[in-house]
Amino acid sequence: MSEDIPFNKTLDLAPDTVDEVVPGVRRVMANNPGPFTLKGTMSYIVGKGKVAIVDPGPADPAHTAALLDAVHNETVTHIFVTHTHRDHSPGVPALKAATGATVYAEGPHRAARPLHIGEHNPLDSSGDRDFRPDVMLKDGEVVAGEGWSVEAVTTPGHTANHMAFALREQNLLFSGDHVMGWATTIVAPPDGAMNDYMASLDKLTRRGETLYLPGHGPAIPDASRFVSYYILHRKAREASILHRLGKGASDIPTIVRAIYIGLDPRLTGAAGLSVLAHMEDLVARGVGETDGPPAIDAVYRLKG
Ligand SMILES: [Zn+2]
Repeated sequence: MSEDIPFNKTLDLAPDTVDEVVPGVRRVMANNPGPFTLKGTMSYIVGKGKVAIVDPGPADPAHTAALLDAVHNETVTHIFVTHTHRDHSPGVPALKAATGATVYAEGPHRAARPLHIGEHNPLDSSGDRDFRPDVMLKDGEVVAGEGWSVEAVTTPGHTANHMAFALREQNLLFSGDHVMGWATTIVAPPDGAMNDYMASLDKLTRRGETLYLPGHGPAIPDASRFVSYYILHRKAREASILHRLGKGASDIPTIVRAIYIGLDPRLTGAAGLSVLAHMEDLVARGVGETDGPPAIDAVYRLKG
């Protein structure tokens, strides 16, 4: 399944060192490796002299110091934040305090839907609920700096407030966690939503950027082809779920065992939430059904 996507996990980059990924864009990777981050969160520095930083990363003094060191003798005028997971935005306050830069993002952290009665949010600890942008951007808004301009591209799905940023001079997109070159994106309710996620992928197919610089992992060349693989992968996963439900009513752990072969045990919880995201979408579309709202411990069946 996921083997169909031409993933690239090759990333020869030491944490907290500066690397010019394309002319005019530098990257500094935080030292937070893990199953959701590959080797770490990518912070990008856009421009030269008066620069913008995309995603300051986690609250890690060593990473903030490495970013400030990278822009020594330059001025940080703008900070852009793709979304409010704790590996992307908690580095903002220290970077803002040190630079006085203005912070731009879609908005504060929020869930894609209200909690069901009795539901607890398994993702509570992953969200940076303290984050507040100075400027909330709308889809299509353009922010210009010295020698660069960035267009805001709302891309909800991974989180409700996820925003990608198109660097217009370079025809590239800072894709955050919406599209990554080394793994599929986690879409986990209630923070994430599959119908939003698929619509956001579809939106990217109508744009022209040829290179994506993601929140984790290497740059993604031939970006539109990669996005089409991403879409096919999700449709294949949905087909696998429907195939399993065709054999009879199933709970989410049963579906996970049936469709995620060779899953890293650390990702079992995430896989369950990803199936829940599909089930929410299938129930909303009238393809699947369950008793009550779609929940992590519910039993699902095809709608007869
Ligand atoms: Zn994220």
